[in-house]
Amino acid sequence: MKVIVLGAGITGTATAWFLQQAGHDVLVVDRQPDVAQETSFANGGQISVSHAEPWANPSAPFKILKWLGKEDAPLLYRFRPEWLQWKWGLEFLRQCTPARTATNIRQIVAIAEYSRQTLQAVRAETGIEYDALTRGILHFYTDEKEFHESLPAAQLMRELGCPRNTVDADEVIRIEPALASIRKKIVGGDFTATDESGDVHKFTQGLAKQSAAAGVTFQFSTTVTRLLTEGSGNTSRISGVEVIDAHGKHQVLRADAFVLAMGSFSAPLARQVGVNLLIYPGKGYSATYQVRHDALAPSVSLTDDGHKLVISRLGDRLRVAGTCEINGYTRDLNPARCEAITRRTRELFPDACDYDNPFYWAGLRPLTPSNVPYIGKTRHQNLFLNTGHGTLGWTMGCGSGRAIAEIISGRQPDLDFAFTGMPARRSSGIAIHNVARA
Ligand SMILES: Cc1cc2nc3c(=O)[nH]c(=O)nc-3n(C[C@H](O)[C@H](O)[C@H](O)COP(=O)(O)OP(=O)(O)OC[C@H]3O[C@@H](n4cnc5c(N)ncnc54)[C@H](O)[C@@H]3O)c2cc1C
Repeated sequence: MKVIVLGAGITGTATAWFLQQAGHDVLVVDRQPDVAQETSFANGGQISVSHAEPWANPSAPFKILKWLGKEDAPLLYRFRPEWLQWKWGLEFLRQCTPARTATNIRQIVAIAEYSRQTLQAVRAETGIEYDALTRGILHFYTDEKEFHESLPAAQLMRELGCPRNTVDADEVIRIEPALASIRKKIVGGDFTATDESGDVHKFTQGLAKQSAAAGVTFQFSTTVTRLLTEGSGNTSRISGVEVIDAHGKHQVLRADAFVLAMGSFSAPLARQVGVNLLIYPGKGYSATYQVRHDALAPSVSLTDDGHKLVISRLGDRLRVAGTCEINGYTRDLNPARCEAITRRTRELFPDACDYDNPFYWAGLRPLTPSNVPYIGKTRHQNLFLNTGHGTLGWTMGCGSGRAIAEIISGRQPDLDFAFTGMPARRSSGIAIHNVARA
């Protein structure tokens, strides 16, 4: 079968790899000149199965209200006269109940665990070098209340099979001695030895290279403008995709099946053909610093709860990422938010890095209100979704690609996840929030 994958971030590239492995003829289309140039470019680097709590949780509404209007707030909602943003915001609030949060955590853990295993298998098979570290993720807290509030989530993770173990402040320092300078402020933490970190951009580039060598075609600098449909009702199909190619020429690309993997930009395209995806961009920032003193920089991937930052060592670089601005599709860098990241990193690891020459970057997380992605079928027979991975697209990317390739090949993936437009595999009681809309 000929399949066109729209988007060459981590999810699109992983989709292409697994489709090719399943014997399909695959073309990947992206508007950028190479793979992983947008949200999969410089993210936090964490493969964090154990930190699957979505932002929509019982404490979120209060925190968002508290942070409204604060330029350097970890999560900043800027109200816009935009129907999608308001609809998304209302659904986000609806997902904050304890019951929905627990359901969403179960879903995210299921796909994230499947994905981590898939990543490990791909790594072993391909030998892709991406500054991978398998030293776990250490979450540390500097606020007693936040630490105590995190205990039920850690307990739930353990019940779901993630070894997210609560540790005291001394143990935090034993696991990551580079945190010694703030020892007095740390009140506790939790550590998951099975979590990982690595450079998503390097990995995606490596996977694309090996996919191309195996027969996948990549068409870059090509912007997708429209999906064309034929038939109606149950027989409705996508007949082609209209693009503007690298020479500015309009073309229609035809295939037997199409996979939408365009991150935050999937929603406007899908809407044209009546597929309403509740995906809104959540702008996040990262700063990358050159490490100057190896022993003073962390080598375990960290989550700084108080500042909502994640920190990953990528070879001789330190990547610090986080914060979220719900404010449309802009990727402008706000100096206040950039400086807040450097201030905090310098406080944590005073002499570890060259803080005078940071590389700042912003990317748009394709957020669903629940942080559960859309993976599966749509009302159009040959249009498939692999999009809306929000805060965890690197964690869930490889598994999502493998799962959608299975679905396109006519098989049910072997995991308990509510695939869009499909019945759940086992009777897990998972509320299928995202099926009806697609
Ligand atoms: C600051 C930050 C930190 C993060 N940290 C982590 C982390 O530690 N761990 C984790 O698991 N996740 C993290 N994430 C989330 C993760 O990076 C994303 O979920 C993931 O990169 C999304 O991948 P994607 O392939 O769906 O989207 P993208 O990487 O954005 O890919 C979409 C592709 O579609 C293309 N495209 C879009 N529109 C068109 C069009 N019209 N025509 C042609 N091509 C088009 C784009 O060029 C792009 O290449 C973080 C995100 C941010 C912003």
